[in-house]
Formats: sequence, C-alpha cells, structure tokens
Amino acid sequence: MKTIGLLGGMTCESSCEYYRIINEVTREKLGGIHSAPSVMVSVDFAGIEVLMEQGKWDMILEILAAEARNVEKAGAHFLVLCTNTMHKLADEIQKQIQIPILNIIDAVAEQIKARGIHTIGLLGTRFTMEQDFYKERLRQKHRLKVMIPSREEIKTIHRIIVDELSIGEIRESSNKLYWEIINRLVEEGAEGIILGCTEIPLLVHEKEGNIPLFDTTRIHAEAAVEYALNS
Ligand code: GLU
Repeated sequence: MKTIGLLGGMTCESSCEYYRIINEVTREKLGGIHSAPSVMVSVDFAGIEVLMEQGKWDMILEILAAEARNVEKAGAHFLVLCTNTMHKLADEIQKQIQIPILNIIDAVAEQIKARGIHTIGLLGTRFTMEQDFYKERLRQKHRLKVMIPSREEIKTIHRIIVDELSIGEIRESSNKLYWEIINRLVEEGAEGIILGCTEIPLLVHEKEGNIPLFDTTRIHAEAAVEYALNS
C-alpha cells in the first residue's frame, strides 16, 4: 500500500474526518487490524483564512506549496489536499512537487457520472461557488451541468461554514437553512448536490432527504485508499 500524504488543517474539523474515514475504509478492505500508512502536514488555518478573504491567493500558494513539499519529503507517494476551496491552487501546487495530487473535483465528478446524473447543484465556500475553478472543471472536463445557489443563499452557506462548521459548531437551525437551499435547487432541476466543502458533511446528511448528496470528504478519502491500494 502506498503512503497517503494529507495536507490538512483547512479546517482541522474535516481533517479528522479524512483520517478516520481513510483508516476505517482501509480496515474494511484489508481486514484485521490494518490501517493506512499516511503522513499529514496540518496548517494553522487562521492566517490562511484572512489571506483568502483578502484575495491574496499568491501568498496562500507560497505557503501551501511549501507544505506540500514537506508532505513529499515526509515520504508520501501522492498528495490529498483536504479542502475543496484550495483546489483553486491545485495545478500551481502540482508544478512544485513531484508526487501527483489526487484531485477532489475529479473524484466527485466520477461518482456523479457513475450515478447517471447530468445536472448537479454545488454548495461550498463562496470561492468554490462563485469562482470558475470548480464549476469549469466539472463542465469542461466532465461535461456536467452545474447549478449554484442565489447571491443571498451563497452568503448564508459561506457564513455557516466559516462561523460555525469550521470551529465544530453544528446547529439544527443551519441544517434547516441548508435543506431549504438544497430543496430549491432540486425544484429548479438539480438531480443531486455536491457537498463541496469538506465541513458540510458534518451538518447535512443524505438520509435526511430524497436527493443524492455527494460528500466530498468521504469520496476523496475513499479515492485516496483506492489509489494507495491499486495504483
Ligand atoms: N474545508 C473547506 C473546503 O472544503 C474550506 C473551509 C473554510 O473556508 O472555512 O472548501
């Protein structure tokens, strides 16, 4: 089995999930007391969050590329960037390391296509929903039709991620707000919803509704185990 390299802390709430899921899935697949060889470099998100809000992506790239090199030096065979938003920088980070990055957008797109879904709603940080890096990859590379929430809904989704989920606060009132937005997207034609922020699966669960929800944390973590075992 290859060594999985995790670049985490974005946020630490979801990095814990990656670690848990990767090891649970490895044990299911290999049996007994097996667990996954992995290394994680975990950043302090506070400074990065400020830079993100200021739009200073070049500075974030410098920090994350340096940490990605640390993951590589620690012996990882490939890199898992444990956040959707930072996939904005994935291609640039890739240029600065030798090991491959396992892209979260491609991993989720494969699952969506396997379910025969063509029109998909996207929830995530405002960067993920508003900017092109995520939507365009789904559209151009995977031929999916992507729907995003309204301006007001984007603000609500982003606020709940940053102010609540990222510090481990799970509120029923926020779960309700998310479902209102999901249901509206479904009424407008979405056949499934990407939970395109690695903290959202802590708040919203597929069993609460009748629509396929694509949990990017689980999908990415499972893809990492698959890659570590079979590539
Ligand atoms: N983990 C998030 C993602 O997948 C970003 C967290 C945040 O911005 O607070 O995009």
